[in-house]
Formats: sequence, structure tokens, C-alpha cells
Amino acid sequence: MEHVRDLTLLPKAHLHLHFTGSMRPSTLLELADKYGVRLPDALTAGEPPSLRATDERGWFRFQRLYDAARSCLREPEDIRRLVREAAEEDVRDGSGWLEIQVDPTSYAPLLGGMIPAVEIILDAVEAASRETGLGMRVLIAANRMKHPLDARTLARLAVRYADRGVVGFGLSNDERRGMARDFDRAFAIAREGGLLAAPHGGELTGPASVRDCLDDLHASRIGHGVRAAEDPRLLKRLADRQITCEVCPASNVALGVYERPEDVPLRTLFEAGVPMALGADDPLLFGSRLAAQYEIARRHHGFTDAELAELARQSVRGSAAPGEVQDKLLAGIDHWLAA
Ligand SMILES: [Zn+2]
Repeated sequence: MEHVRDLTLLPKAHLHLHFTGSMRPSTLLELADKYGVRLPDALTAGEPPSLRATDERGWFRFQRLYDAARSCLREPEDIRRLVREAAEEDVRDGSGWLEIQVDPTSYAPLLGGMIPAVEIILDAVEAASRETGLGMRVLIAANRMKHPLDARTLARLAVRYADRGVVGFGLSNDERRGMARDFDRAFAIAREGGLLAAPHGGELTGPASVRDCLDDLHASRIGHGVRAAEDPRLLKRLADRQITCEVCPASNVALGVYERPEDVPLRTLFEAGVPMALGADDPLLFGSRLAAQYEIARRHHGFTDAELAELARQSVRGSAAPGEVQDKLLAGIDHWLAA
């Protein structure tokens, strides 16, 4: 029998993890207790809630659960704890680089405004990085349910903090709402400020939403992007330009984008040469973290250890990590495979 290497020891970069969604379930219960918040039963059941985001009602329910969890983050010490624990979990799963995604607008009211919220988050990231040794940066993400002018304001703010740990600009929430091009100015501001453009696309809607991210927002990475698998020409375009798709298999199955883990088109993207960075998206709601995504590739898609190592390399190359960090992680991947 083939020797099976431990996937938690495979060095990798984690490029798709949302802020509140990274919380440990046990921490959520403790914080809810601290503030006397009555959580929805789906969040206290001790197992991931069953979700279905393939229609707007299902997506709304998912967002409501997310909002309930977020309402338990009220003080700077909660933010510090969340970030430190996210870093600890990532280290445990073999991550050597984490880019965490946050819309500071949602945290601003309880943390004294936008600027304080961003500074508390960035300070927490710096502290967690120092304490755990994990390289960490931040993507600031706009919400496509809000007005494009809000996204512009956020992009300016993100650029202003580029030297304090912000490396990218994202766009999240329901892809069925609004057009990507409504946010083109915000993304232009971010790109001109040196940030990488990493909007969500090709998750809830098809290949056209990925094309919009490329054409209108000049994305250099796509959050999810899996639905590109439905369009061979688009796959070729992503491969030719080496646009990394932040693919989150457990999330896709939890939200009903695909029925079963084996239906997530990991093979299709991989064989087409589209670089991928597997991510956990919202482990709080989907029940699995980073290494588990690689486990899905191994177990349900027959990825060999050499192919899993290549997936890990793609995650590192798609990251905003400095050259020397990338080199170290890539050497670690070779070492893992040689062992
Ligand atoms: Zn996401």
C-alpha cells in the first residue's frame, strides 16, 4: 500500500477565509454567553447547520447565521482572540501563510468606527502572526449588496493601510445581486494602490460571473471560480493568465453549489492548468478547516501526493507572500513530498 503522507504537515497558503467564519464553534458559544446573546439553534447544535444557498432564501438564512455569530464580536479582545485562534488552527493544518478576509463595515459600529475597526483588526493580525509564527495578511472585502460608493470608500481605506498588512481587495455576498462592473471604480482604486483584486465569482452563478470579474474588475484571483469548469474557453483563459481560483470544496457542498464532494470540479480545473488555492471559507458554518480541503482532493478526487504537493505550490504562488516566504514554503513542500 502506498505510503500516505500527513496532509496537516504539507506546507500551504490559505487564501480564502472569512473573518467571523473562521471562529471556533466553542469560542462562539463562550462569547454568546459573555454577552447574553441567544444564538439560533442551528449554531448551538454542535454540528454544522444544514444550508442551501442555491436560492436567495437559503443564502439569506446563511447570512443571518453569519450575522448572529458576528454580533458576538464586540470588544477588541474578542477580535484578538478570534484572529489568534484562526492563526493557531491554520498552523495546526500546515498553513504557512494566511490571508484573512474582512469587511470592516460590519464591525465598525461596535468598535468605535471604521478606522478604529481596521486598526484593531490589523493590530490583532500582527500580534497573532508574532505569537504563532504564521505569516498573515488581510484582504478587505466590499459587500456587493451595498452601494458601489461604499465599496469605493472601502477601497481607499484598504489602500491607506497597504503598508500595515492589507494586501488585497475583495467583493463578497450574493453574486446574483448587482453587477461586477458596478464596482469597477472601487477595484481600480485598489489596483492603483497596489492591492491585488480578488472578488468572489463563479460560486452561486455560472462562468459569466467569472468573466465579469476578469473583464470588469481585472481580478488577479477569483474567490471560488469553480463554475468556470462549465466553460472550457474560460478555463483556458484562467490557465493562460495563471489566475488563481480560491476553491473551497467543503463550502461548495455545504451551500449546495454541488451535491457531493466528488462533484466539485477539482479535476477539471487541475487538468486544465488553472491554479487553485484550496480554502475553508467559513469553517464555523461548514465544519471543516484547511487540511480537510486537501483531504477531499485526496479521498474524493484521487489526487496523489505529488498532485497534492502541486496544489499546495499553487496556493503559495497565488498568495501575496513575499518571495522569501514563498521560497521557504515551496522548499517545505518538496521536503514533504521527498519524505
Ligand atoms: Zn468566501
